[in-house]
Amino acid sequence: MHRDLHIIRHHQHASGAYPASPTFSQYPYCWLRDGSFIAYAMDRAGIPASSRAFHLWVARALEAQTDHVRGLLERSRRGEPIRQAEFLPTRFTLEGEWKEDGWPNFQLDGYGQWLWALGEHLRLSGERELPEAFAGPVRTVLDYLERFWDEPCYDAWEEHPTRLHTSTLASIYGGFSAMAGFFPSAAQRAQEVRRVVLEECVEEGRFVKFVGNPAVDASLLWVSTPFGLVGEDDPRMRATVAEIERTLLRDGGLIRYAADTYFGAGAWVLLTAWLGWYSARAGERRRAEELYAWVEARRDPQGHLPEQVTVPGTNPRFLDYWTRQWGSPANPLLWSHAMQTILRAELEGA
Ligand code: BGC
Repeated sequence: MHRDLHIIRHHQHASGAYPASPTFSQYPYCWLRDGSFIAYAMDRAGIPASSRAFHLWVARALEAQTDHVRGLLERSRRGEPIRQAEFLPTRFTLEGEWKEDGWPNFQLDGYGQWLWALGEHLRLSGERELPEAFAGPVRTVLDYLERFWDEPCYDAWEEHPTRLHTSTLASIYGGFSAMAGFFPSAAQRAQEVRRVVLEECVEEGRFVKFVGNPAVDASLLWVSTPFGLVGEDDPRMRATVAEIERTLLRDGGLIRYAADTYFGAGAWVLLTAWLGWYSARAGERRRAEELYAWVEARRDPQGHLPEQVTVPGTNPRFLDYWTRQWGSPANPLLWSHAMQTILRAELEGA
C-alpha cells in the first residue's frame, strides 16, 4: 500500500473522521471539504471501507443538526434574518460535534463537496440506491443548499464572507448534480447554479475568484475538475488555467491567489497536485507527471506532505506572523496526501 494511504489510514479517527492535520495546532478537526476529498482519494485507491466510515460519520454528525436546519429553513421562510454564525459549520470535532469557537464557519462549499464525494463513493462501489443511513442527512443538506446556495459566505480559504465565490458555487453544482439521480429537484437546482456561474462569474472569457473580483484563484480548477460545470476543454476553463499558470506559479508550485498572506503565501501541495489532476484530465500527461514529481520532491524524511512550502516570493513578514500565532504550517496535511493519491490514480488510469 502506498505511504499516502498508510498516513491517511493511520490518522483516521475511530469515529470515521479525518483530522485535517494531526499535529497542527488549529487543525485537529474534520472539515467537510478536506474530508470529502480524502474520502474520494480512498475510493480511487480501492479502500472504500475508509471512505464509507467517513461518510457514515458525516451522516451521524448531520443527523444531530436536523432540527437546527429545520429551524433555519422555517425562519428563512418567515423572512427573518439569520446570522452567519448560525449556519451549519464547516468543520466538526472528530466525535462529530459542532464546536462553537468563533471560527469562520459559514462555508457552503463543503456541503456540496460532501454530496459529490458521497455520490462518487456510491458510483465507484457500484451502489445504485441511496443507502438508508444517508437518506435523511442527504435530504437535510439538499434542503439547506436549495434554500441557501446563493447566500454570501466564507470561501474555501475561509475568507471574504460577504461574497459569492465561483469555486463554492461550482462545489454546490457538483453536489446537486451528484444527487440528481436520487432527487429530481437537485437536477433543476444544479442548472440554476450553473446559469449564475456562467452569467456572473465569467469576465473577459474566464472564471473569476468571486463575483466582482476579476483575479483568479487556484480553486477555480474545481469548476471543471472534478465538478464538471464545464469540461476541461471549455475555452473559458482553458483561459482560466492559463491565467492561473501565468500569475500563481512559484518555483513550479501553485499559491492560492496573488494577494494571499497566510504564512506569507507558500506554494500549496494540494493545489499543485490539483493542477496535475486537471492536466491529466485535459490530456496533458507530461505536464501532469511534472506536477506529480514537484509534489514528490516536497516530502519530508517521513514521507509527509505539508500544506504549503516556502517559495521565492513568500513574504517573510507574514510567514513570521503566522508562525508566531500557530506554529509552522501543517505537516502532514491529509488533504495534501489525498490530492497526490488522486493524481497518481489518474496517471495510472485507476
Ligand atoms: C484552509 C482550508 C482548509 C483548512 C484545513 C485552512 O487554512 O484555508 O481550506 O480546509 O485549512 O485544512
